[in-house]
Amino acid sequence: QAKQSGKNRYCRFDAQLDREQRARRSLSQAVIEGIEREELRLYLQPRVELASGRIEGAEALVRWRHPTRGLLAPGAFIPAIENDEAIVRLGDWVLERALALLTDWTRQGRDWLVSVNVAPRQLLDPTFPRQLEERLARYPDAAPQRLELEIVESSALDAGLGIEQLMTQCRALGVRLSIDDFGSGYSSLAYLKRVPAHAIKIDQAFVIHLLDETDDSRIVEAVLELARTFDLHCVAEGVETLEHGEYLLRLGADVAQGYGIAHPMPQADFTNWALRWQHPSQWARWRDTLTN
Ligand code: C2E
Ligand code: MG
Ligand code: MG
Ligand code: MG
Repeated sequence: QAKQSGKNRYCRFDAQLDREQRARRSLSQAVIEGIEREELRLYLQPRVELASGRIEGAEALVRWRHPTRGLLAPGAFIPAIENDEAIVRLGDWVLERALALLTDWTRQGRDWLVSVNVAPRQLLDPTFPRQLEERLARYPDAAPQRLELEIVESSALDAGLGIEQLMTQCRALGVRLSIDDFGSGYSSLAYLKRVPAHAIKIDQAFVIHLLDETDDSRIVEAVLELARTFDLHCVAEGVETLEHGEYLLRLGADVAQGYGIAHPMPQADFTNWALRWQHPSQWARWRDTLTN
């Protein structure tokens, strides 16, 4: 009797796993088709120097203009495809678009950088650096120094051997590397030693509670201290208010990114946003408060 029900449970569990696997596979297939049908969009979120208000560049964040479900944020499809070939295809698409964007900016006389999110799965391919090199060669007006690869600290990367080597090879091409969502993983310190990064991005989860009386503010302080020790550029994500920005500047953060400056916007809107931001009347309140 007990054996029987146990077996049934096992079968049900199995069937559910199978359903989930099939759903993931079809989502991956749908993303690949979405790329081919040109349904993906690059959104940009500004990164701004806290001390001066100068625009450092932008992070490229993908959106999917789905034919029936509307505009999808990455949370709706990226986590489910992160271990599939589809994330590699998506990553390739984003890199191409980022290099085309840098080319446009160069021609407009802009020196902004663009950062792109690189999934662990992309880095598990040992040919990634060579492909990146070929891609950079196809965009001679996109300086590698203005492309930043954001790599999230993750156990997936820990499992892959040779990641440090891959990162070192990418760095040798001249691109910048940053550790995304810093502080959210379990191995942040080990990462600093292993990954030849230029910058860290403090996870927005810590920044959002910065002003509350929580341990989060001490974590941010400790992270900034680390950044100084290792001579790393420090970007704070999730900066939602002026008060956050002000506090982060006092603690020694270099750059802010967050809704308090701008939400991610369609690529085509970025230059206009920049013109407005640079207009003194628009950012004076930031500059004045931050530098006085
Ligand atoms: P992320 O790289 O840490 O990106 C930052 C996320 O925080 C973005 O969400 C952004 O819209 C959001 N954010 C920015 N400022 C604020 C703020 O002030 N408050 C709050 N609460 N949130 C803020 P988004 O665009 O939904 O992206 C979510 C995640 O999806 C990204 O996190 C990244 O891990 C992933 N992702 C996005 N685009 C790509 C991509 O092209 N490739 C890969 N592999 N992953 C991507
Ligand atoms: Mg990121
Ligand atoms: Mg992040
Ligand atoms: Mg994140």
